[in-house]
Amino acid sequence: MTSSIGPILERAVSGARISPREAYALLRSPDWTSIVAAGHQRRLRLHDPSVVSYTAYRVINYTNFCDVDCSFCSFKDEIESDRGYTLTLDEIAAKTEEALALGVDHIFIQGGVNPKLPLSYYTDALRMLSGKYRVHVRGFSPVELLRLARKEGMPLPELLSILKDAGLGSVPGAGAEVLTDRMRQILSPKKLSGEDWCHVMGECHKMGLPGSSNIVFGSVETEEDVCEHLTLIRDQQDRTGGFLAFIPWTFQPQTKKFTVRHVRGWEYLRLIAVSRLFLDNIPNIEVSVLGMGKDLGELALNAGANDINSIVIEENVLRSSGLKTLGAAVKFIKEAGFTPARRTLGYEFGKYPEAAA
Ligand code: SF4
Repeated sequence: MTSSIGPILERAVSGARISPREAYALLRSPDWTSIVAAGHQRRLRLHDPSVVSYTAYRVINYTNFCDVDCSFCSFKDEIESDRGYTLTLDEIAAKTEEALALGVDHIFIQGGVNPKLPLSYYTDALRMLSGKYRVHVRGFSPVELLRLARKEGMPLPELLSILKDAGLGSVPGAGAEVLTDRMRQILSPKKLSGEDWCHVMGECHKMGLPGSSNIVFGSVETEEDVCEHLTLIRDQQDRTGGFLAFIPWTFQPQTKKFTVRHVRGWEYLRLIAVSRLFLDNIPNIEVSVLGMGKDLGELALNAGANDINSIVIEENVLRSSGLKTLGAAVKFIKEAGFTPARRTLGYEFGKYPEAAA
């Protein structure tokens, strides 16, 4: 570590907390190889060096009706071309049965913000998934939760309690994109603010609904935006815990109305490493093989990531080719030089001892 960021990296690798200003220096540094090496060193100290974990889930986008109108989302195009839908309970059941037959261990349910759906739609779906199918349900982004609570005229904790009683097990950190006010105005001015996003996630954590957090970059965000985003996530984690993992994603082309910037491979790897070094209170950094592809995914496992963000059997929001079977995930991890370890959504490893190769 010979560059000017060397002292920052040495402290971060040793486990010392680095400041937002220091994280900003890393995000601005062209010395990405030193940052990536440090991210990997830190990961080796925190997790079994030989193991990379994975899980399997199916995404069910229960509706594409949404009045939030995020600039990057394809749902509006689908509705305008007469492809709007809301899944019935039977359709959700059919997708769940298909996924369970393929070996998934949780269902990730997420939609647009459809103001016409009553609370009973959500509770019926959750009761069916957690009761009849006994499957873990991770569901609903903060904007869905906040808007549903407002529509039903109830405090957010009351809504969360009802959903949890019905079977909701955890929450995704979806809809964060970039949490700064500047970027929210550009990407999704009708969505909840970064402050509200953190508040909703905090309430979920307090309710015993853990989850993940993420960043979606590759538009017009600056290093300041990324640094502020990471700081908001770390501060929220200090307050309420509950983020089991952090996942950097990049925007994927979904609609012609939104321009996606090309994210260079080293830029992605640098962010994986900075996430590992700065987010000292979030144990797992996941690489999205779904979004980034296998080559970059493999490199990210040597830059700070310790998990491959799993197999997705269906994803309507993000169109890409990822690892679509359990066998493909195992093969990918082995070829990357690690031992695969299947985990649950809560990062428990005992449930699938036979899956460790
Ligand atoms: S990203 Fe989510 S909240 Fe935004 S328009 Fe699409 S479905 Fe709605």
